[in-house]
Amino acid sequence: MHEFGIAEELAVLVDRTLSENHGSKVLKVVVETGAGAVEEVSLRAAFEEAARGTAMDGAELVIETSAREYHCFDCGVVFSADEGSNASCPVCGGFNTISAPNHDVVLKSVEIEG
Ligand SMILES: [Zn+2]
Repeated sequence: MHEFGIAEELAVLVDRTLSENHGSKVLKVVVETGAGAVEEVSLRAAFEEAARGTAMDGAELVIETSAREYHCFDCGVVFSADEGSNASCPVCGGFNTISAPNHDVVLKSVEIEG
């Protein structure tokens, strides 16, 4: 599943941050995801799975969702909206829009215990 790959990548990044900072335990992991890019429930489950038995075990996972970006073919403007696939353009009102490719999940910050 998609989310498991993401969680494993996160685990690697978090682990690297932990050793760079000589920490012993991860308290909190904050990630940002594009709207609709992942299923939050699946990501949480995958994260728990990836964290089991590691320094990340029991860490709080905070998922922040960023608005999806759209491109309007009629007037060329780029705008953000949370409306799924059919957002109308705020400039010209057209529906000839496409959502820009969304990033999946980005690691924003890690809180560790020394
Ligand atoms: Zn437009």
